[in-house]
Amino acid sequence: DVKETGKNNYRWFSDTIEDIRTRRMLIEQFLKDAINGEELTLHYQPKWDLVQNKIAGVEALLRWTNPQLGHVSPYEFIPIAESSGIINDMGEWIMRTACRQFVAWQKQSPGMSLIVAINISGVQLLQPNFIERIQGVFTDENVDPCHFELEVTESFAIENFEEVINILVELRNLGFMISIDDFGAGYSSMKYVCQLPIQCMKIDKTLIDQLADNVRSQVVVSTLIEMAHRLKLTVVAEGVELPEQLHLLRTYRCDQIQGFLISKPVPADRVIELLHTNDLVR
Ligand code: C2E
Ligand code: MG
Ligand code: MG
Ligand code: MG
Repeated sequence: DVKETGKNNYRWFSDTIEDIRTRRMLIEQFLKDAINGEELTLHYQPKWDLVQNKIAGVEALLRWTNPQLGHVSPYEFIPIAESSGIINDMGEWIMRTACRQFVAWQKQSPGMSLIVAINISGVQLLQPNFIERIQGVFTDENVDPCHFELEVTESFAIENFEEVINILVELRNLGFMISIDDFGAGYSSMKYVCQLPIQCMKIDKTLIDQLADNVRSQVVVSTLIEMAHRLKLTVVAEGVELPEQLHLLRTYRCDQIQGFLISKPVPADRVIELLHTNDLVR
């Protein structure tokens, strides 16, 4: 059941299994229409290059606001989109929208160098015709895949190692850059990481969170960065919020950082403005 808490906000009482089921069902039902309607948007979060002192790229992050449910977090709706199969059409919408946005930015700011990253859900990656689909989008929209990076989560890549590796190799051959997302949140098996055709490692926020006040996590993060560098990977630290974290990451020679310290994810029309701001990091 829904109860009104005032201010047009609905609060969901998810104490019971029944309530959880109802909300899941509603999300699934509304999500189907959301793709065709105007409820989905992409926001973009900059990746700040610590060596070149500029924005190296942006990560597209999905936002959903539904008239009944209000704003729903991707942490909640992505798993539902995955289990219901909606993620496949939704993922195509994300790729197409990001391509069109990239073309629009290029027109606005000719000669800019900007890599756009999109998150690819594991379910989406393993659909039988994923390669044809992604190729179709980039051909339709006339965008060279070399401007795009695909983020695949560590846990997923390792759980489905054999299948994933073949698809990643194909994507790599098409020209996409591949990064392993949320590294350190899962198994973090070095044996697997060395075998994946990736160019970039994103260190999970949970490791960054502990950085400023935990010596052990300083050892882990600095060692991880060194190892990634020796594997010729670019390293991005996720969820950097504090100047102390930035300071440590600089001493570890981390390549790029992402997080609220630099910028939250912003709507597309604010990206060009951010690109021309040189003092995002003080
Ligand atoms: P992710 O790909 O690891 O993205 C990073 C998440 O951390 C984003 O949450 C971002 O807004 C948030 N974040 C970034 N910097 C900070 C910080 O300094 N502090 C804090 N507290 N948070 C920070 P968001 O946008 O809610 O997305 C959550 C997750 O949902 C993403 O994690 C990704 O796994 C998934 N997701 C989001 N958009 C998409 C999408 O378009 N496709 C797919 N398949 N998954 C998506
Ligand atoms: Mg990501
Ligand atoms: Mg991540
Ligand atoms: Mg994460």
